[in-house]
Amino acid sequence: MFAARYVPGEKKLSLTDIPKPRPGPRDVLLKIRAAGICHSDLHVLAGEVPYPHTFTMGHEACGEVVEKGNEVSADIKVGGLYAVHGPNPCGDCTYCRTGHDNLCNGPGRTFVGLGQDGAYADYLVVPARNVVEVPKGVSPEVAAVATDAVLTPYHAIKTLGEVQTNSKVLVIGLGGLGINGVQVAVALGAKVTATDLRESSLELAKKFGANETVNSKEIDKKIKPASFDVVIDFVGRDSTFTQAQTFVRPGGTIVLVGLGSSHVPVISTPLISYQVRVQGAFWGTHQEMHEIFQLIDEGKIKPQVETAPMKDVNHWLEELEAGRVKSRMALLPSQM
Ligand code: NAD
Ligand code: ZN
Ligand code: ZN
Repeated sequence: MFAARYVPGEKKLSLTDIPKPRPGPRDVLLKIRAAGICHSDLHVLAGEVPYPHTFTMGHEACGEVVEKGNEVSADIKVGGLYAVHGPNPCGDCTYCRTGHDNLCNGPGRTFVGLGQDGAYADYLVVPARNVVEVPKGVSPEVAAVATDAVLTPYHAIKTLGEVQTNSKVLVIGLGGLGINGVQVAVALGAKVTATDLRESSLELAKKFGANETVNSKEIDKKIKPASFDVVIDFVGRDSTFTQAQTFVRPGGTIVLVGLGSSHVPVISTPLISYQVRVQGAFWGTHQEMHEIFQLIDEGKIKPQVETAPMKDVNHWLEELEAGRVKSRMALLPSQM
């Protein structure tokens, strides 16, 4: 089968032919229907998140179950469309058993498409416990990108940011994650200001209900310091994390999602004297997967997605790097 594989030290994925995987007793074999491209793939290819071995990339996966192991429950149907919970939790550890399965530290656990084989391929094997059925009206490409580009902002904004009706929220960085972050915050009833360097992103944010949009280059002129209950940084660079600290109110929360830089500056005196909370955010839980699919099914979140053939994955990774992807790309295998 076709697979686009990460090779340590290489800047592009290697497009290869590898054997079709076989499911174990508790696994499902998915025929991939769509796979989203995340900016984290670029951090891996740039060597910022190094892996010592080769694997098939792609951690936003949706596919049809074509085979299942003999211990898989009858609830999971051959022929059904399923989305993959990419953190791939073990189901047994303390984190998994207490509803924090995104933090799973079970033995040998790795993320789908990040350290172990993922979705830039014709087929993918995953444990059956880590798939969620896609509601009938939701397309494979929307379901694929939702597993990260909606799940991660949902976890960051609702669960960790504790955003609620009338919260004042600043969303920094309106790419694949951030544009859905705007929609999550709007769906929660927040008053949303959205900022990015790209005018096209500001237009999209307006379309999805942001009350105010500001180009990042002008943010210091246009926005009053200390005016947001919650700031979500989907970029994670020096400049954006500094902005987050400037614009969060005393006692407010900064949620850091973007991996733009390995270190970000903390300006300690205001952080301490204004009791600002800084919260890291990682992906999302299995339970939240169900919640986001319900919101998508009800039309409260409309994930933006563009599609392209999977064989062009390297081209679209370059386009994402160059800032020319307006929302989120989902790749479609050629053998559909
Ligand atoms: P993306 O490339 O789709 O979007 C990035 C957006 O940030 C673009 O709109 C870009 O114009 C904007 N931007 C870049 N520099 C900016 C600046 N200085 N000020 C304002 N806006 C700026 O990326 P994405 O896929 O949405 O991912 C965003 C980040 O989140 C990446 O670093 C990615 O690795 C990370 N990520 C983290 C998690 C997690 O669990 N914490 C999950 C997925 C992705
Ligand atoms: Zn991702
Ligand atoms: Zn676990």
